[in-house]
Amino acid sequence: ATPTAIMVGTGLGAERGILIKGGASLEKIDRLSAVVFDKTGTLTEGKPEVTDVVTLAMDRDREVIDQTNFQDLFQDLFQDLTDRADREVPAPVLRLLQITASAEVGANHILGAATISRAKSLNIDLLPTQSSQIVAGCGVESQLVTGEEILVGNSAWLSARQVEISREMLERSRQFAEAGKTPVFVAVDARLSGIIAMRDRLKPEAINVVRQIEAMGLQVWMLTGDRQETAIAIAHQLGIPPERAIADVKPDGKAAAIRKLLAEGNRVAMIGDGVNDAPALASATVGIALSSGTDVAMETADIVLMRHDISDVVPAIQLSRATFSKIR
Ligand code: ADP
Ligand code: MG
Repeated sequence: ATPTAIMVGTGLGAERGILIKGGASLEKIDRLSAVVFDKTGTLTEGKPEVTDVVTLAMDRDREVIDQTNFQDLFQDLFQDLTDRADREVPAPVLRLLQITASAEVGANHILGAATISRAKSLNIDLLPTQSSQIVAGCGVESQLVTGEEILVGNSAWLSARQVEISREMLERSRQFAEAGKTPVFVAVDARLSGIIAMRDRLKPEAINVVRQIEAMGLQVWMLTGDRQETAIAIAHQLGIPPERAIADVKPDGKAAAIRKLLAEGNRVAMIGDGVNDAPALASATVGIALSSGTDVAMETADIVLMRHDISDVVPAIQLSRATFSKIR
């Protein structure tokens, strides 16, 4: 392509809010073989909501498990507001939401934000904490001023921290994950006290974007720190085969997954929005960031979608093909 053609290409992109950093970036997105999407905040809204709460209590060494679904609980609320008293949230559920939301205050994580917002909507007062420590890709550890040690995170991390999780509780969490929800485990003083399940909705345009990219002859992959069952359920909704849903990856694991695809001979576009996507964006043949994402993601990327609309990946690829492919 001539310098003029490249200027025209990047200019057309800019008009559509597709910011292409230099002609080299435009050329890199030509002749791709795989397009990898981050899940949370890229294919999904990134605003999970608490849907279910499982509480666990011990009664003379016997586990007493209770499960509350918020949809069921509030189903009729809008039809009959006066009836609200009948649908009160059980006290153990309120307590679990209270300690979890309190522990999540410093975590600055979207799963924490979901619990905090559910607690607020139920008028639950948060408890002050003495300290809070974030463990990336695992969860958060907080000490309440009352002295209780709270762990909130995934089952692998809680198990590594010596929290015992019964088969029944693992089974409940598996059911949530298979429904595409993310289960979060909560322990108080190294004893499991419940599971909070959250659902993050797919962006309405996600299914179409995946379909269009596959129609262009490219393989679509999904990358997430979430667990396998959740990832597969979301991938299924999008028509992505389970073997192309890479789950349970920590931030550096996302970059490693990209490098593996490159080593297999692929030319890879990575699309993401978060701090934890920056290494993967840098490793890919071409990194594409959503402008609503973090500054570091936007700085690392070759292309920024200014309208923060994943649909713009399709014209970005078409633009590159139009600029480069026809002259070869
Ligand atoms: P993603 O790559 O999807 O953005 P993260 O790497 O942030 O995910 O986290 C991976 C997993 O670790 C989450 O799915 C969750 O199970 C657990 N986790 C991490 N931080 C928290 C937190 N603050 N509260 C609850 N769970 C957490
Ligand atoms: Mg993300």
